[in-house]
Amino acid sequence: MCGIFGITNNKDAAHLTHLSLFALQHRGQESAGIASTLEGHMTSHSGMGIVSEVFSEKEILRLSGDSAIGHVRYSTTGSSHIKNAQPLVSNTRHGALALAHNGNLTNAAQIRRSLEEKGSIFHSSTDSEAILHLLAHNPGNLEEALIASLKAVEGAYSLAILTPDRLIACRDPHGFRPLVLGKLGNSYVVSSETTALTLIKADYVREIEPGEIVFIESGKVRSVKPLPQTPLARCVFEQVYFARPDSVVFGKSVQRVRQSLGRALAKEMKGFKADIVVPVPDSGVPAALGFSHESKIPFEVGLVRSHYVSRTFIRPNQEMRELAVDLKLSPVAEVLKGKRIVLVDDSIVRGTTSRKIANSLRAAGVLEIHMAISSPPIISACYYGIDTPRSETLIANHKNIDEIRKFLGVDSLHYLSLDAMLNAAKEGSSKDGFCTACFTKRYPTSIPEESSDNQLLSTN
Ligand code: AMP
Repeated sequence: MCGIFGITNNKDAAHLTHLSLFALQHRGQESAGIASTLEGHMTSHSGMGIVSEVFSEKEILRLSGDSAIGHVRYSTTGSSHIKNAQPLVSNTRHGALALAHNGNLTNAAQIRRSLEEKGSIFHSSTDSEAILHLLAHNPGNLEEALIASLKAVEGAYSLAILTPDRLIACRDPHGFRPLVLGKLGNSYVVSSETTALTLIKADYVREIEPGEIVFIESGKVRSVKPLPQTPLARCVFEQVYFARPDSVVFGKSVQRVRQSLGRALAKEMKGFKADIVVPVPDSGVPAALGFSHESKIPFEVGLVRSHYVSRTFIRPNQEMRELAVDLKLSPVAEVLKGKRIVLVDDSIVRGTTSRKIANSLRAAGVLEIHMAISSPPIISACYYGIDTPRSETLIANHKNIDEIRKFLGVDSLHYLSLDAMLNAAKEGSSKDGFCTACFTKRYPTSIPEESSDNQLLSTN
């Protein structure tokens, strides 16, 4: 997964993009990059790691310009390489062009194969590069070539494209991934999430609509909707887990949705007796609050998360690795000892984290662990950008609820129902249309075969 950002007509474009990438860091920690333009000239810098590791003050100064786009990229297995860092920058017959993509194209492998047969040379193993090649191949001006290219790709894409004279933002017709438009003085801003707008004090204008292409040029916004209409399929997992709670995603406050998910779970577990509600930090906190409000069972911070353990914290042996996990989530024995707890988390993927947490809670003296998950069992892989592993590694794909309970070592296990999740996600909104494929196997598009060929093209 990824986060994207763009800003035009601002002398501090690179600085503001840099700051905004910090706000979007949760959407990707593998690599980060910024491309900026000044007087027809494009400059870019990207690197592996989190934003603070990739950019020094010197780099940001070198990127000075009046428009910029930025990207943070999520880690995906086998594709952790600088060549996949974005924005992708290219010199095309339309001039210099930078592209930042969030989502995953489902037909990128076929497009790549057919372009390679015609002589294209790809530089990365990302699906996003297919869009650049299509743009270069398709006839007409940039707008015509872009429309033709987007008509050829399938799957999930929220895009920010920068040229020396314009910023282009587009969202696929299903609207899988979020993308919003904001305004800061005379500057227009696009961002994966509103939290970046809040940070730089930009006003939220509206969502970029599914199927919409927005051209921001000479300080004006022009919108076209040339792509065939399809049913909406917004990713409900953005609301459940992925987006930041202080963002408004698909027109709804993520914090409020997550609290509603917790309330709904408490309603489904009505009459359940426990001493305290404990969230798995950070992702389980809003749902645990909602659960506590609804059930009237007191909320307690029974696990403390260290924010200083990085992904690259690799230890030499198993014993040291297990200590590293304990360092990330540490139980507060004084709160937990002798208690029957409802342990709230947003989702179970492989089950390995929950199992370790259950172990350390027992060691801290918890009497009973009742695990409550604010979404249904994840049974199927995502092909639209969330880095859920292939189906066979998803615990709910091959174990029933009681088998999962035993594996986790908890006294009971409760998942929120699909209906209740969807009601909470769309609460107060007349719009329907979520992608629930990871919970239902109902994919809104055709999906790629799980061949090694397709896996080469990694998610953004
Ligand atoms: P697991 O041990 O694989 O079951 O991990 C479950 C935890 O991972 C939960 O606390 C989730 O909040 C979190 N999680 C859910 N989806 C993802 C994802 N795509 N990438 C990373 N973490 C995730």
